[in-house]
Amino acid sequence: LHSILHKANSGCSNNSSSSSLVPFPPHEILSSLQTLPLDGYFSLSNNEDAAKDFGNIHHFPPLAVLHPKTVSDISRTIKHVFEMGFASELKVAARGHGHSLQGQAQANGGLVINMESLQGPEMKVHVGEFPYVDVSGGELWINILHQTLKHGLAPKSWTDYLHLTVGGTLSNAGISGQAFKHGPQINNIFQLEVITGKGEVVTCSGNRNADLFHGVLGGLGQFGIITRARISLETAPKMVKWIRVLYSEFSIFTRDQEHLISLKNTFDYIEGFVIINKTGILNNWRSSFDPKSPLQASQFNSDGRTFYCLEMAKYFNPDEAELMNQNIDHLLSKLSYIQPTLFRSEVSYVEFLDRVHVSEKKLRAKGLWEVPHPWLNLLIPRSEIHDFAEEVFGKILKDTSNGPILIYPVNQTRWNSKTSLVTPEEDVFYLVAFLSSAVPNSTGANSLEQIEAQNKRIIEFYTSAQLKVKQYLPHYSTQEEWEAHFGSQWEAFVERKKAYDPLALLAPGHRIFQKAV
Ligand code: FAD
Repeated sequence: LHSILHKANSGCSNNSSSSSLVPFPPHEILSSLQTLPLDGYFSLSNNEDAAKDFGNIHHFPPLAVLHPKTVSDISRTIKHVFEMGFASELKVAARGHGHSLQGQAQANGGLVINMESLQGPEMKVHVGEFPYVDVSGGELWINILHQTLKHGLAPKSWTDYLHLTVGGTLSNAGISGQAFKHGPQINNIFQLEVITGKGEVVTCSGNRNADLFHGVLGGLGQFGIITRARISLETAPKMVKWIRVLYSEFSIFTRDQEHLISLKNTFDYIEGFVIINKTGILNNWRSSFDPKSPLQASQFNSDGRTFYCLEMAKYFNPDEAELMNQNIDHLLSKLSYIQPTLFRSEVSYVEFLDRVHVSEKKLRAKGLWEVPHPWLNLLIPRSEIHDFAEEVFGKILKDTSNGPILIYPVNQTRWNSKTSLVTPEEDVFYLVAFLSSAVPNSTGANSLEQIEAQNKRIIEFYTSAQLKVKQYLPHYSTQEEWEAHFGSQWEAFVERKKAYDPLALLAPGHRIFQKAV
């Protein structure tokens, strides 16, 4: 290392400031990295996967991929890169399951760390008053579900899709239909083990190295790499009653959603979605849901209109079915949905939580999974959701959508405000997710360019209307946009970067910090 440093700096003037240092040629960085005594290994070729993600829009080839076996493989590597100082141009991206949308887990000409190869100690479930599980940062949530269920336990808060890693979702938030009650996944973590941008291994929690703990949660990978997480658990149910109803009036739909999330005794999962100009929706549902009034449902014509679907789920065990049904009937009796559109289904807890994987298999079989996904996820204050809906669902997306559009409110009061996640400043706000797939049809519609233009129109609308919308899974190109995104939290974010990753080595794919801070 010293000889490389010496070589890189020879020929420079006596001025030892960072700007005068010469970047290392890639082959020298690589040979220097390969001198490290590791349990895992670097791969220098066939790294195409690390230059891809679910978004399928950005493809940045790395210089090398580290397949770590141990935590010290990662800390040694980062420490080595850190000690090369400002002279090194090498950036480091942790890659979980690569389900980012805009290259966030990629490192152009840099080093990608394949977190799924990290073999921590076995997942360990602790029972007791506050049960938890200790897992590796590269663990998939679906595996955590199966493991914890062996003890009759499970995490409280989920994402809609479970084939994502712990480090990947905790770097964002992890929001799904349980978040109104339990907060996002980042609010259900007791402790983390993190490797900072200096290569230090730090254990942190709400009362130990708390600044790093809160910084890393929702911190977009900027302050450290999560190698272990201690996740809070609850008693798992066996079964789930899963219900869908339709509304044609947006205001009644949101009133009912907000009513349900305000109750103490309510559903365990509450989401919703927008249906624009779809033919035979209720017929499609029949393959997995039973209509309460089959005859009326069969006569219901949804064609060509915009509907709002409220989706709810109640967890139960078979011996509690009767009480659960009474509870649900009571909750439903207070709602104002279109009566013939009440559809119900009963599935196992695992089937319910892993539901998107079923769609994944179907889409994969049709070659429709690995297509570009120009997704746009927004957090919108309750006071502005009607203005937003009027313009976006009423005008911009009046005739068609390119994939599911999720919309549901959450209670910010149950969320921890100390994490790095940025949200609107109202007690209730909505997650609105445009989950588009760019699959051009025969007329050329639905192309990536067309959907990106549509997303731009949505962003331009809420920006010019000065709505206080925040992006979730944010993606920006300029520092000004990032500053505006973080708003009053920007300074604290920069201070944390200085403290934990001063050379800005980590998570370059977000393009927040291009240079050392
Ligand atoms: P990657 O894409 O590999 O990484 C994401 C970011 O995290 C990168 O910046 C990366 O550098 C960083 N990172 C990865 N591992 C670590 C680590 N161990 N330590 C520190 N940083 C790390 N999100 C929701 O909130 N709710 C949903 O319901 C939801 N549903 C989804 C459904 C699908 C089909 C898909 C594709 C995504 C969905 N997401 C959802 C978004 C998802 O949570 C994020 O894209 C998440 O980052 C993906 O996890 P990953 O393991 O693939 O992460």
